[in-house]
Amino acid sequence: MNLASWLRAAASQLQTNLSLDAAAARIEARLLAATALQCDITWLVAHGDAAADPDRLTPCLLRRLAGEPVAYILGQREFYGRPFRVSPAVLIPRPETEHLVDAALERLPRAASVLDLCTGSGCVAITLKRERPDCTVTATDLSQAALAIAQTNATALHAAVHFRHGDLFAPLAGERFAVIVSNPPYIAAADTHLSQGDVRFEPRMALASGTEGLDLIRRLVSAAPDYLNPGGWLLFEHGFDQGTVCQEQLSQAGFRHIKTLPDWAGLARVTLGQKPNQP
Ligand code: GLN
Repeated sequence: MNLASWLRAAASQLQTNLSLDAAAARIEARLLAATALQCDITWLVAHGDAAADPDRLTPCLLRRLAGEPVAYILGQREFYGRPFRVSPAVLIPRPETEHLVDAALERLPRAASVLDLCTGSGCVAITLKRERPDCTVTATDLSQAALAIAQTNATALHAAVHFRHGDLFAPLAGERFAVIVSNPPYIAAADTHLSQGDVRFEPRMALASGTEGLDLIRRLVSAAPDYLNPGGWLLFEHGFDQGTVCQEQLSQAGFRHIKTLPDWAGLARVTLGQKPNQP
């Protein structure tokens, strides 16, 4: 069998087993083959008549057919135009999280100190540092395995981010920041979404947080004022139906200029507020 026929057969299996559309299945087949053969997609497409080596090609395809996310098989996902290493220790970066980055960039004063909580792969912290090298960026995570990936990404992308291990603000006693960002776990523990698709393979602690999905967000919002400078901003991602309750939390914690921003799909996705200048 040559490469072109292997790609066609793989795409057709992916389409059937994973209910993908034809175009997505073709792209996945190429990505998986390029990873297996350690070549780029242009080479693959130009060498359709080369012999396909099933010993090298089949393992990646079988993993994907068993439902494993493409990003974990490739070991990589793009975020904000840069490649990030990912493993099952971290949430796969999502395009909607780029809105969190954009909203933070709009509010970052010059040479500000920024904190990213629940950093995971480090995609938010590293992107902020790369976009605004004048800022000092600190990031925390409860998972040591996630921090190891984040540190690898920071090194590969030449971003001097300070990583700390611990639960939310625990490793930051006495420190203050101009901007705090987070993409925390926010899915309800019993949500059926957790047992479908890619999400099944992602770390549960990065996704679920209590019966309503709001446990971490509540802790984050109530503690944040103690770690923000006067006039500082808190911005975080949340579920499409959590905008109102997140606004209420911010208001109870004394924040002003509270706002919810939509994602690409027009769904409520990021809520933010400013700590008053005067108490
Ligand atoms: N947006 C992700 C999802 O619905 C969840 C990300 C998160 O919990 N921070 O799969």
